[in-house]
Amino acid sequence: LESASFDLAQTAQEAVNMVATEARQKSLVLAVSCSPDTPRRLIGDSGRIRQILVNLLGNAVKFTDEGRIDLEIALRRRRGSTALMRLAVHDTGMGIPGEKITNIFEYFTQADESNTRRHGGTGLGLAICKQLIDMMHGTIGVTSKEGEGSLFWCELPLGLPDETEAVSPAGRGETRVPQEDWASLTCPAESTGEDPGRSRIRALVAEDNLTNQKVIKMALERCGCRVDLAANGEEALELLGLCPYDIVFLDCQIPVLDGFETAVAIRQLKTEAARVPIVALTAKALPGDRERCKGAGMDDYLAKPISLSRLAAVLERWTGQTSVAIRETDTLPVSR
Ligand code: ADP
Repeated sequence: LESASFDLAQTAQEAVNMVATEARQKSLVLAVSCSPDTPRRLIGDSGRIRQILVNLLGNAVKFTDEGRIDLEIALRRRRGSTALMRLAVHDTGMGIPGEKITNIFEYFTQADESNTRRHGGTGLGLAICKQLIDMMHGTIGVTSKEGEGSLFWCELPLGLPDETEAVSPAGRGETRVPQEDWASLTCPAESTGEDPGRSRIRALVAEDNLTNQKVIKMALERCGCRVDLAANGEEALELLGLCPYDIVFLDCQIPVLDGFETAVAIRQLKTEAARVPIVALTAKALPGDRERCKGAGMDDYLAKPISLSRLAAVLERWTGQTSVAIRETDTLPVSR
């Protein structure tokens, strides 16, 4: 897969242009829309994304005799330097019967064998789309009603070039994302005092307490990290699926999945993320905590209150990078 900066709205338009003639011949309305908060530039493989869209749009045109086809691009959410984009193709065509929909993304599957005679095709298009989307760590889905139409959608995590470019008000009138949402995106080099030649450690912190979130984020930034925050274990797993991290800090008492359960789930991932160093954050050093953390697959353990020097030592141990601006006396406040 390629990873380059591109304009998703333009890619969508190019895909639409490729099926426009056929749609016109069938007198179908063909429309494309982008939500106003769609980032102007994203990082990903525009050629593959166009291929997916041409496949979905091509099917929509093929299996629709009257009505319309809408391609909708929308920003689902922004986390750290990743934007989860939703691309949806809606048609008013023949739809897919319920019993055929379950394996529609498998190779050589066609909803109706007579399609082969009527429409041609191989039953490969959707399987290839799914494979490409899997490679991009995205998801694909479909809802359909026979005789009424289908909605094929996919969600793709795509990179954001950098803060200034991504929120540039120039272009198609994007709305500016509230400052809080950007807080975890960048950490200017001056504020960390870091050596600009050194690569930034990417840290993920799962912590539900807002004060503690701020404290640990500030501390990690002072140690030269770039920090993303998750409020619970499920969010942490989701973020791990979206972007690579050098180290993960898990508070043991986070909601949904606690720190221990999250660690176990991370170690069971089928991706590179399964091997990320995990450091437990605990409210107080209880006897047996260290063993419990180790048992859940965590590598290290920090009891609160966390001192900058201990944090820096942990970062150095697990990422191999030394931290800056550390004073032995620095102790971080924590509210639990
Ligand atoms: P192909 O179109 O080459 O047969 P695909 O994998 O693209 O292969 O699609 C598989 C089958 O899914 C199609 O043959 C058709 O039965 C069904 N299908 C796909 N898209 C649509 C759609 N938009 N509306 C109705 N049926 C569809």
